[in-house]
Amino acid sequence: MRRANATRTTCPYCGVGCGILASAAEGGGIVVAGDEEHPANHGRLCSKGAALAETLSLEGRLLHPELHGRCVDWDTALAEVAGGIGRAIGEHGADSVGFYVSGQLLTEDYYVANKLMKGFLGSANIDTNSRLCMASSVAGHRRAFGADTVPGTYEDLELANVVVLVGSNLAWCHPVLYQRLAAAKARRPELTVVNIDPRRTASCDIADLHLAIRPGTDVLLFNGLLVALVDAGKAKPGFLTAVAGYEEALAVARASASNAALVAESCGLREAELHCFYSMFAATDRVVTVYSQGVNQSSSGSDKVNAIINCHLLTGRIGTPGSGPFSVTGQPNAMGGREVGALANQLAAHMDFEPEQVERVRRFWKAPAIALKPGLKAAEMFDAVATGRIKVLWIMATNPAVSMPDSDSVRRALAGCELVVVSDCMRRTDTASYAHVLLPALAWGEKDGTVTNSERRISRQRTFMPAPGEARPDWWIIAEVARRLGFAESFAYRSPAEVFREHAALSAFENAGSRDFDLGALASLDDAGYARLEPVRWPVPAEPERRRERFFADGRFYTEDGRARLVPTPPVPPRHEPDAAFPLALNTGRIRDQWHTMTRTGRSPRLSRHAPGPIVDVHASDAAAAGIASGDLARIESRWGRCSARVRIDPGQRPGVIFAPMHWTDQFSREGCVNAAVNPVYDPVSGQPELKHTPVRLSRFPARWQAILLALEPLDASPHEYAVITAREGFWRHELAGSTAPAEGWALLTGILRSKGGGEWIEYNDAGAGQHRGASIQEGRLAACAFLAPDSFLPDEDWLATMFEAPSLEATDRRFLLAARPASPGADTGPTICACFAVGRETILRAAATGGFNTTEAVGRALGAGTSCGSCLPEIRGLLASLGNAAPA
Ligand code: SF4
Repeated sequence: MRRANATRTTCPYCGVGCGILASAAEGGGIVVAGDEEHPANHGRLCSKGAALAETLSLEGRLLHPELHGRCVDWDTALAEVAGGIGRAIGEHGADSVGFYVSGQLLTEDYYVANKLMKGFLGSANIDTNSRLCMASSVAGHRRAFGADTVPGTYEDLELANVVVLVGSNLAWCHPVLYQRLAAAKARRPELTVVNIDPRRTASCDIADLHLAIRPGTDVLLFNGLLVALVDAGKAKPGFLTAVAGYEEALAVARASASNAALVAESCGLREAELHCFYSMFAATDRVVTVYSQGVNQSSSGSDKVNAIINCHLLTGRIGTPGSGPFSVTGQPNAMGGREVGALANQLAAHMDFEPEQVERVRRFWKAPAIALKPGLKAAEMFDAVATGRIKVLWIMATNPAVSMPDSDSVRRALAGCELVVVSDCMRRTDTASYAHVLLPALAWGEKDGTVTNSERRISRQRTFMPAPGEARPDWWIIAEVARRLGFAESFAYRSPAEVFREHAALSAFENAGSRDFDLGALASLDDAGYARLEPVRWPVPAEPERRRERFFADGRFYTEDGRARLVPTPPVPPRHEPDAAFPLALNTGRIRDQWHTMTRTGRSPRLSRHAPGPIVDVHASDAAAAGIASGDLARIESRWGRCSARVRIDPGQRPGVIFAPMHWTDQFSREGCVNAAVNPVYDPVSGQPELKHTPVRLSRFPARWQAILLALEPLDASPHEYAVITAREGFWRHELAGSTAPAEGWALLTGILRSKGGGEWIEYNDAGAGQHRGASIQEGRLAACAFLAPDSFLPDEDWLATMFEAPSLEATDRRFLLAARPASPGADTGPTICACFAVGRETILRAAATGGFNTTEAVGRALGAGTSCGSCLPEIRGLLASLGNAAPA
């Protein structure tokens, strides 16, 4: 049901692009709900989307322009940016300036940034952080189809007979799309799901077959599939006339993968598993292969994408309902960035640097200095900053000091750059600390524009909160800089609607069906039409007869001869393999309840309870070899850097491979940034980093003490060797560790607390046992408490939360605080499984054991867990299975 007075907008997290209703809550604040009328989610939200209302406070926001750390007016800040760009170009040429932008930008922001750089500054040095996410898919699409086209739709996953997930933990990274797939499988159990992933992830919950392949062997696996399909007579003769490169690609596939037994052995699979997958794929025309970062983030990511696409092109399994290769994007507007051309190797509107296309865009923009060649991709751009070739770097809505591989080298590059400009909505990000100029941008709920999701659907993000402080839209900030550089006429936008109309018009300019990306029908939207714009999937050309739901079923592609290309894909191992010094392969990724570098999700207490700090998942055999147990703090070291995390023994890990999430930054941790250890290796075609395969070693963190410190405000973590800071309901949790004597650690910790001043301090010390506890009480109420011990002993945090809420601490409370246990112990709830209803692991296990529950529905009826967003259902099913309860459903 649509809420009266609700604003229809779109989730700012993943590429599923769920519709959201945001409305004023009774008693203040905002409430969000899934938009039942949005075709991407039909009312569903995942745990992150459902918690959006908790992330809307102004705490930590950048609200005023700053120059060298001082607040200045907009005019001063913009003049500084324009002056710096103008000087750099005058003295060193256009390529001395770079823009590093983001899939968090709206399409209108992206469009204006791309136009300024490529049409008016005269360089193509603009690249987006989507380079880290799906550049290999873009490269694969362009090689195969002649354009960056996602052929299918979300509905195809529901219509397929076989869905193959490759390198995609859809259950956690694209949860609502996963729920659509799970619901389709529940309706049609014959829908077969194959999950290809070295890890056993939550997405295995609905998989009929899990292929835990050896990392980096995807190309070999799909080359083997190509051979098997040809040998089984599954090449589609009619469709092969629309395809070139068949013989070359098949020859390469046969050279590497004609012996199934060898393919299975190299992939680390049983031969029967291989044949099972190959026959599932061969048995039906309705196959969708969904792939994501596990494919893209590789030094051979583009070849992995093409090895997959080859199998679909060979068999004509593309462009018809329930069939096709399907790249799902990580970010909310990665697709929008691709559409405007914000990758350095594309020009605009799916046109590239062919002279005819450059000339077309030049005429459309009336551009005085159109870029004639591709610019620097992300890694090249930061290299150019490091070597001084780029003098001015403008970073918009992204945090490369955390997210780039070998992130310490990126920090060094930023530290040496002549002018670093950062546009962001948050004041303190790891990247913002290197900025000379900080420009306050609008955040979700304040800004207004469009985003495109993974199935090419354009949706509106709409404003439902006022702009705070002096924050402005990104498109406005860029246009104001352009105006100061002398380009006022071409950047005289007064609204995002004006920008969108121009973007749509460029997509249709001299198109006539020659390019896939065409929004011609939207180029004449008036302001009211733009305000009302319903979610719409492109292409939407002006001529209705050229509209279509899917691409390529007609065998017509966007190459010069109109034929698709099968691309030969010789298997290549990861650039760096584990060796004696660094014997494990580090795989990085995401967890269920956090998003990117946590600038938003890190502010939601309930999202932080699923995994309260950096973790590393390790197979028991690797943990034993390193002398590490579950719950220990471990150090992960590579040849490039190091980080630390708490160990979880996970039987779903392949021996020899460890997994660590990429979310933690210097803002929320010390030693928590996993990308500090990741190798700076890139796919030669796409420029995408190999974020999923770095040789590392694992060792016990040399902790002599560990501590928990809870305080009403976040404290400076930098003096500690290891620290993690998380938001909790009403207080901040600090997890600390050090290699000094416990008494020294306690002195450091209490020194920080006492420096906050005032109040009463009570303390308990047992120096012999290395146990220290203390509490700060101000005006009778608990202001902070700390517990330090040689091990990772943690007092019950739910009990401590009640202590913070108490209007005054009685003598008994103080005694038990120093005893680190409640007067009457409550039930241990364990780590949160269901974020929506705050239901912990232990609560579910107890209820399931005593109630004899054997289905998630039974758990839901008893506890509510799993009945809202559904993101936790795979974990609940796993807990039921761990109890041996039969028939989890
Ligand atoms: Fe947002 Fe979750 Fe939907 Fe992704 S699946 S768009 S994170 S609600």
